[in-house]
Amino acid sequence: MSTTEIRVIGDPVLRTRATEVTEVTGALVRLTEDMLTTMYDAPGIGLAAPQVGVQKRIFVYDWGEGPGVVVNPRIEGSDGEWVYEEGCLSIPGLTWEILRPKEVHLVGVDLDGNEVSIEADELPARLFQHELDHLDGVLLLDHLDLDQRREARLTLSELALARPVARQPIVGASRPASPLS
Ligand code: ZN
Repeated sequence: MSTTEIRVIGDPVLRTRATEVTEVTGALVRLTEDMLTTMYDAPGIGLAAPQVGVQKRIFVYDWGEGPGVVVNPRIEGSDGEWVYEEGCLSIPGLTWEILRPKEVHLVGVDLDGNEVSIEADELPARLFQHELDHLDGVLLLDHLDLDQRREARLTLSELALARPVARQPIVGASRPASPLS
């Protein structure tokens, strides 16, 4: 299976709200297989369709307990608070400590139309919130405070200047806080 290029910050597809999936077609199944390959190759533990340029509400994940696909996901409830150093494959090389709910209840359907209902805590809960953000056109930058955001803008503009020279491999992939998606 081939891997697809992951869209990075600056690409408008990352800022667009993805649309509901109305029918699971063969093409959509192949897309999710390709997304999983791309996610493992990155490596990351999740990948949302907009990150490969597809504006559909679907994401794939594997936080170490096997791959999964969720179609039309929603978060039905959340609880607690948890700070975690979060990265994003679409913002290569940068991570920030971000506060989000510690537990979430994720619902949706799988590729066979079966209901998905997962009570997630800590890392998987963080992963699901991150993917849902991607489906709504939200990026990590939107969760930063003013100081973090100012610093991020500087770093990102330096990266943008450097990008045409050479495509750098993703930094931080081997760090404990690897990019979520
Ligand atoms: Zn991401």
